[in-house]
Amino acid sequence: MPANRDKMSKYQITNPNNSIVRDCKSRTTEGEEQFNAMQKVDYNIQLIIQETGVDKENPDARGTCTYTIAERNGKKFIDLSKGVKITLYKEVITKDGGWTETNIGSTGTHESVHATDKENMNDVLYNATMQDKLSPELLKDVESVPKDKAKAYRAGMYFQTGGE
Ligand SMILES: [Zn+2]
Repeated sequence: MPANRDKMSKYQITNPNNSIVRDCKSRTTEGEEQFNAMQKVDYNIQLIIQETGVDKENPDARGTCTYTIAERNGKKFIDLSKGVKITLYKEVITKDGGWTETNIGSTGTHESVHATDKENMNDVLYNATMQDKLSPELLKDVESVPKDKAKAYRAGMYFQTGGE
């Protein structure tokens, strides 16, 4: 067991604008749930708002969640001691309909599932390992749960604001 596992939770606010994320997360059940999940894990989750630019591999992505995939004894694993990084792309989120609590919060909620849900992370790892060997329909569905949570977040916000 790596030595740093005895440290406490590491949800790290790395951008002054992240108070906006904290605020919108606390406004719905799903946001609260995912925010708490990020605070409970025993590895570092860094959440960054990228003001300009997009993800190179997926320019339409509103957010990404990245892990370090390492290999030990010929077996790949997600090296959580290296932390997990969530990036929210302001340019993309803004383009898709505004930099609102609903859009930021739902994107953050989506990515936080990838960052905290062990089953989801195992499936992401499976896909990363098998994508060259299997046809796409045989890979795991890693997006449904995050999408459902983001949708529930949006519904919760809609309920509170009556739509924006
Ligand atoms: Zn996703």
